[in-house]
Amino acid sequence: MVLKAFKLRLYPNKTQRNQIHVNFGCARFVWNQMLNMHIERYKNNKKAKFQGRYSMDVMLKALKIEYPWLKQAESTSLQRVNRDLDDAFQRFFNHSLQNGFPRFKSKKNTNQSYTSKFVNNNIRIVDEHHIKLPKLGLVYFKAGRILNGKIRAVTVRVNSRKQYQASILVESENQTFKKTKKSVGIDLGLKSLTVTSDGQKEDILNVDDRLNKQLRIWERKKSRRYENAKKAMAFDEHDKVLFPRTDLKQFPRYQQAVRTVAKLKRHIAERRRDNLHKLTTRLVKDYDTIVVENLSVKNMIKNHHLSASIANASWGTLISQLKYKCAWYGKKLIIIDPKNTSRICHECKQKNHEFDSLSQSEWLAAREWDCPNCHAHLDRDVNAVKNILAKGLETLA
Ligand SMILES: [Zn+2]
Repeated sequence: MVLKAFKLRLYPNKTQRNQIHVNFGCARFVWNQMLNMHIERYKNNKKAKFQGRYSMDVMLKALKIEYPWLKQAESTSLQRVNRDLDDAFQRFFNHSLQNGFPRFKSKKNTNQSYTSKFVNNNIRIVDEHHIKLPKLGLVYFKAGRILNGKIRAVTVRVNSRKQYQASILVESENQTFKKTKKSVGIDLGLKSLTVTSDGQKEDILNVDDRLNKQLRIWERKKSRRYENAKKAMAFDEHDKVLFPRTDLKQFPRYQQAVRTVAKLKRHIAERRRDNLHKLTTRLVKDYDTIVVENLSVKNMIKNHHLSASIANASWGTLISQLKYKCAWYGKKLIIIDPKNTSRICHECKQKNHEFDSLSQSEWLAAREWDCPNCHAHLDRDVNAVKNILAKGLETLA
């Protein structure tokens, strides 16, 4: 059994929207109350025992008596808040690096969510356009990719663009792809995003040139309109006009450019994600064993160039997709230490010490080289990826 999630864009009516926002509010209130309780307890007594999710569930009952309006909320979603807060504290206690002390939730945050648990058939996909959600009834959604399986939970979200979304967690039979008896190594580079040990180079960052061109045009328009708006505001002030314009919101043409730039960036990001999905699915289908480098060890390209930050993000996504897809489809992912993989000749396994004295930029520029030991002529990327594959397969032996 594996857990999978899929998303549906919801189109709730006005009553449903109100109920959704009541739920966001209640979930936020419970989170903040419980968090405050933990802080106060600690202040009163530094040795006070931490109250886990079950104790919080007991307190929730008392909270509902004190604040009867909490009963308007979908009840499983409030218990879920306790669980999430418990998890947040556990991560904090375990000194997980990226998780600090749990924070209060603000109403002002444009992203809000709550999660309902599946109980007594309270969540059900009725047809290709309607989903039944607790407290909301039938909610319309646009046709989407609905995964088969037993529903476990649903998270309802709204984002800053006021778009509503449900992500539905289902438990499904583990389907596997046919075994191919083939293995592959993947090198994550910047020049071509991935190189496989079959010698295929793939640049998944390349999206439609037309989109990129449009983005450049609109970014120029945006900055020009920004300058014009600034000038107009300065003139208004200087000329002491009756109603001087003081806010960029008063410049519809500038606002339109802001929206268009955001939309184009979104499209490009979606296109990239699609490309990544296609690539990872194909890899998992074609190979039984996939070997990649450990990214946290691999030297991330440290510059402020946009392409580098996109590449870094895409590598992370690529590996996480491979991780879960390999688990879903019965394939194996091996993550290896990338040390020396590009400095060793895959033919004779000797390290090329001529590289030791090179500067970083000279080293990055060395695209092809001849092995000083066995004189093989090597393509840097293809050689590295063959070493990656060999290193991964060694761990299997
Ligand atoms: Zn060699």
